[in-house]
Amino acid sequence: MSAFEDERRGAPLPADPCASGDMRCSEAVARLWEYVDAEVDELDRDRIAAHLAECTPCLEEEQVEVVIKELVRRCCQEEAPATLRVRIHEQISVLRLREAAGPEA
Ligand SMILES: [Zn+2]
Repeated sequence: MSAFEDERRGAPLPADPCASGDMRCSEAVARLWEYVDAEVDELDRDRIAAHLAECTPCLEEEQVEVVIKELVRRCCQEEAPATLRVRIHEQISVLRLREAAGPEA
């Protein structure tokens, strides 16, 4: 009774832009929240850290999570509202676009 597992195993994995090391971006990003919260064990922490060292997109993603974690701690809330996370992502995207647009600042 493992039709679901068979399906997962047989399905082709989506192309990963930067599958560096033994960890894929999708896995690294999926575990970033635990990572910044120090909720992963030592082995996984090292794997994620190694991936972040080589993968700028994931590193930037990690910084977003760190910022959110900091904000949440200041607000003394248990969990960041989804809207807050979306807004921070949007703001960072805007900043990146501005940086890409030109050297004027
Ligand atoms: Zn990555």
